Amino acid sequence: MRNGDVSFWWRQIGLPAPRPALPGDLDVDVCVVGAGFTGLWTAYYLRRLDPSVRVVVIEARFAGFGASGRNGGWLTNSVTGGRERYGRDDGIRQQAALNAAVDEVIRVADGEGIDADILAGGELNVAYTPAQLARLRAFAAAEAKWPGADVVELSPAETRDRVGVARPLGAVWHPHCARVHPAKLVRGLAEAVERAGAVIYEDTPAPAISPGRVETPRGTVRAAHVLRATEGFTANLRGEHRTWLPMNSSLIVTDPLPAEAWDRIGWAHADTLGDLAHVYTYAQRTADRRIAFGGRGVPYRYGSRVDTDGRTQERAVAGLTALLHRAFPDAADVPIAHAWSGVLGVPRDWAASVGHDTATGLGWAGGYVGTGVTTTNLAGRTLADLVLGRDTDLVHLPWVGHRAKRWEPEPLRWLAVNAIYAAYHAADRHEARGRPATSPIAKLADLISGH
Ligand SMILES: Cc1cc2nc3c(=O)[nH]c(=O)nc-3n(C[C@H](O)[C@H](O)[C@H](O)COP(=O)(O)OP(=O)(O)OC[C@H]3O[C@@H](n4cnc5c(N)ncnc54)[C@H](O)[C@@H]3O)c2cc1C
Repeated sequence: MRNGDVSFWWRQIGLPAPRPALPGDLDVDVCVVGAGFTGLWTAYYLRRLDPSVRVVVIEARFAGFGASGRNGGWLTNSVTGGRERYGRDDGIRQQAALNAAVDEVIRVADGEGIDADILAGGELNVAYTPAQLARLRAFAAAEAKWPGADVVELSPAETRDRVGVARPLGAVWHPHCARVHPAKLVRGLAEAVERAGAVIYEDTPAPAISPGRVETPRGTVRAAHVLRATEGFTANLRGEHRTWLPMNSSLIVTDPLPAEAWDRIGWAHADTLGDLAHVYTYAQRTADRRIAFGGRGVPYRYGSRVDTDGRTQERAVAGLTALLHRAFPDAADVPIAHAWSGVLGVPRDWAASVGHDTATGLGWAGGYVGTGVTTTNLAGRTLADLVLGRDTDLVHLPWVGHRAKRWEPEPLRWLAVNAIYAAYHAADRHEARGRPATSPIAKLADLISGH
């Protein structure tokens, strides 16, 4: 089994040919820092909307090195942090914008000739314990009140018809989700950005950004607009140490399963597959007949340290493997080919945001927690409109300009995150023994985390 190497997705398609580093000092209109989905979508729409704008993207390693090239490939419509926080009308608008963003990513991929194994089979979340089933029912009832959520509840038999998981007690499904190959999508998007006329400089870390200036060891970029698109790596930027907590998530992927196993499992529509656990898992059926299966490993490293090469801990691999085999006994004899991890950005209130200060020209987008594959597209379009001063519906969405308070200093931050995840793991263990309702330990952890 390989461990690290950025991700299985990148190893499968090969790392991209390196792009040049920043050649020295530069004057442009917009400097985007970070070449993940956020930075790339922003550059893409800026150039598509106004080809006269000079846009550069500064990237510490290579385009797609971060979460964008490592994730579970759920192109889904989640409103990070929940739409309830915005009130009814704004919540409905935010949901509609995310539903549309799923379609927009598919439309652009199609139009730009990006083959990213996209299959729009919807999102399936399964309950495996009585407590998960109770949460599932409450969730389905709450979702039914929101137009655009389009969640339907499935019986155990209907669940197995979609994906042949072992012993499901029920599931919820909605149609606004597609399975993607993350590295193919981010690689193709970077190329589309270049075709649109923006320049990506790689191997150029920016330790500090300020109004009008991005300083790097290779030169300084002066720009009227400086946009931070560094997500889980934001804690490394000067002055941003407590803005978003870098949270780790890990994945494993199997070798291709034999045809007889797929005959039993089905999974014909390639729905993305999750569960209702507190420490939840997320999975996809890959285009080459593997199962990629993810969840939290060691969630947080002291001092907001972030990873470098995607290596994950042995106990994260063992934990994910056990859960994979519980859901898919047919995969028990199939070797795990690769394990890796990535880092995502968590704001103190768990709500994503996008914004731009017209006075300073500084902008940002992120804090997507585990649901950024679609939201980054909405963020990119919104940032482009904000920078260009366009008065569109997007710039009036409720997440625009939102700011969360900063995280606590260490050692409080480390203690709190580890205590919260220990509590969630304990609650999952209690519930696995048959508790009919959510464990009180999890309720306490929800309260502490502000989740
Ligand atoms: C393991 C994992 C699984 C996930 N699964 C899903 C999923 O299935 N569905 C979903 O919706 N979301 C998922 N997510 C979240 C999703 O991948 C992210 O929200 C999204 O990719 C964020 O994109 P981004 O461009 O903001 O950040 P990133 O992709 O992390 O990009 C940030 C970039 O900035 C660069 N950078 C950072 N600091 C600097 C600096 N100082 N100077 C220059 N460059 C810098 C980094 O090298 C990196 O390339 C997952 C995340 C992880 C880690």
